[in-house]
This record gives sequence, C-alpha cells and structure tokens, in this order.
Amino acid sequence: MLDSIPSFTRLVAELAKFPGIGAKTATRLAFFMLRQPDAAATALATAILDLKRNTRFCSVCFHITEQDPCGICADPVRDQDVLCVVEEPQAVLAVERSRSFRGRYHVLHGALSPLDGIGPDDLKIAPLMERLRGGGIREVLVATNFTVEGDATALYLARLIQPLGIRITRLAFGIPMGSELEYVDEATVHRAVEGRRDI
Ligand SMILES: [Zn+2]
Repeated sequence: MLDSIPSFTRLVAELAKFPGIGAKTATRLAFFMLRQPDAAATALATAILDLKRNTRFCSVCFHITEQDPCGICADPVRDQDVLCVVEEPQAVLAVERSRSFRGRYHVLHGALSPLDGIGPDDLKIAPLMERLRGGGIREVLVATNFTVEGDATALYLARLIQPLGIRITRLAFGIPMGSELEYVDEATVHRAVEGRRDI
C-alpha cells in the first residue's frame, strides 16, 4: 500500500540508510514526521544541511570542526607536547568526556585493514608523521580501538614513530577486546588513559 506513496517510501529509504535503523524503525520515523508540523520538517532538513555545509575537518588534527584549526588545536592552555591518535572523531569525544587527557589529537579516519583494502595511504598517517617531524611532540598516545585492525594500526605507527625518538604509549588494558572507544564508559577510558604504558 505504501508503494503507492512515493514521497513516503523515499523518506523511509533515506532513513533506513542510518546505522542501526532498519526498515521498521524507518517507517515509524516517517509516520512520526508525517504527523509533525511543517516547521519540524524544515528544522530537521535544515539541521542536516547545516551540518554538511558548516563542518569540515581540522587541517591540523582532522577532527570535525566549524573553524579551522579546531577549538582543541587552537586552545593555548592544552599541552602542546602530547598527541592522542584515534581512529574516528567519535573517539575524540570519548576521550574528552573522560577528562583524562589535556593534550591534542590526531584523527586517522580509519584503521589499517588489508582485507578491506585499507592501507596507510588511506589514513591520515602522512600528515601525522609531518606533525611529528615538525618537532615539539614528546609523547604519542595511540588510542586506536581494541580490535584486530586497531592493534595492527598501533603496531604500524609504533614502528614508524620509534626512529624519531618520541615516547609511544598505548591505552592500558581494561578496555574489552573488540571495543570501539566511543562505546566505552568514561570511567574506563579515564583509567585506560591514566594507566597508559609504553609500546
Ligand atoms: Zn584540530
């Protein structure tokens, strides 16, 4: 029956593209939107467009930002000599929430995964090395996810960075294997950052 309402099925198809949203939930959301005033639909559409128009990646750390460089890179109070390397912008939020880290970040935008054809050139590794060669960094805290890909990326980075004579640390165990940082609770991230160890 809904096939005869193209604008409805189109919205359902778009919503179903969201992670974790199946056809059933997409249909429920579309019915919800149908009952909302026009202003609510405009507000949602505008919020999505503004997100795409106004945000970009910081040219220094590759975190999401509306100004370049981002607020964290531009903050003079934060430690200049410690970098926390993460896979995704969501992980920056997770570490920030834990209030355990006062340095700056570098977002790789993924992890090494040869089976998926993701190699070093697909990640922001070259700009990371450029930052490190620029000097002034005393420690790199590798906070990639506790997955096979995250571990492989951490080891790869360690080998690359070691010759520069910079201290390389990894989050302490305590974060369950298979975990993506964004889903780990604040207290656990806090303990993992505090207890970081040399690789
Ligand atoms: Zn930045």
